[in-house]
Amino acid sequence: MREPVRRLEFHILYRCTNACVFCCESEHMRNFGPYPASAEDVAAVLRAKRRQGYDHVTFTGGEPTLYPGILDALKQAKGFGYKTFVISNGAALSIPEFCAKVLPFTDELCFSVHGPEDLHNRLARNPKAFSRIRKSLENVQRHPRGPFVMINAVANRLNVRKLPALLRWASGFGKVRHFLVSHMAPEGDGLKRFKGLTARHKDIAARLPAMAAVAESKGIALRVFGVPACELGGYWKLSNDLYFSPRVTVARAFLRGGGVGWLEEPSLDATRARLHPALCRGCRLRGKCGGVFRRYYREFGKEGMRPLP
Ligand code: SF4
Repeated sequence: MREPVRRLEFHILYRCTNACVFCCESEHMRNFGPYPASAEDVAAVLRAKRRQGYDHVTFTGGEPTLYPGILDALKQAKGFGYKTFVISNGAALSIPEFCAKVLPFTDELCFSVHGPEDLHNRLARNPKAFSRIRKSLENVQRHPRGPFVMINAVANRLNVRKLPALLRWASGFGKVRHFLVSHMAPEGDGLKRFKGLTARHKDIAARLPAMAAVAESKGIALRVFGVPACELGGYWKLSNDLYFSPRVTVARAFLRGGGVGWLEEPSLDATRARLHPALCRGCRLRGKCGGVFRRYYREFGKEGMRPLP
């Protein structure tokens, strides 16, 4: 039986301080930048979804810490009884006073970091991007309250060899408990640059022995998103698909009748933009593993995919 949906992902604005070369939200940013959620929208969505049984809300964007009402939104969510999760590039959380205000109402934080120092700045196309992340992590580390902190690194051709070094750096912040390596999603600018920029599955898998050793020694959960579990070899249990929770995304969209409104999009499993080729029949992970990105399959075929006995 399918797990009930309890997770809400709420795109409260489409503005950002960075312009990541693989941004999967780039089209939304272009189309919906002028349409952030109003305070009334936030209250209405949080109230309605809580009544429907949702108990976990992710505030995302764009960069949600730029949303002028983020503190009120977090307080309101806590008041309704949600667990709160903020996905950030470190923008406003790098300011100690702001960070101190927000953390008491934040249960989980994810920082998007894509390489050490200059490499992150180049990928984010912002010379201040890495220093902001570092300051944010220092602010979080210093704060007496301990939100669950995770790092999300989008693997690509330029940073794949640096992933172990990035994990080692992140593990220096004791509050980092989770490190996710995400395959580039074939959406937005990630789709436009997919062929030239995507990391091959085997190149990601080759980094896992070194990364798993660091993660284990520091008590960090290591996960990989967007790569078929079978391509992770002996590390297939690191596949993020095995831990997927169903969710509903609330985001801006063009309405059929014209104008801009809100769209609810359910993701009930990890198969978005992915496929299972015929070889998946008979694999013991069929039904749990989300398969391979369609676009990846078109470019590179089945590569090292093989059904797990
Ligand atoms: S064979 Fe198919 S279902 Fe099995 S792990 Fe690979 S991609 Fe996933």
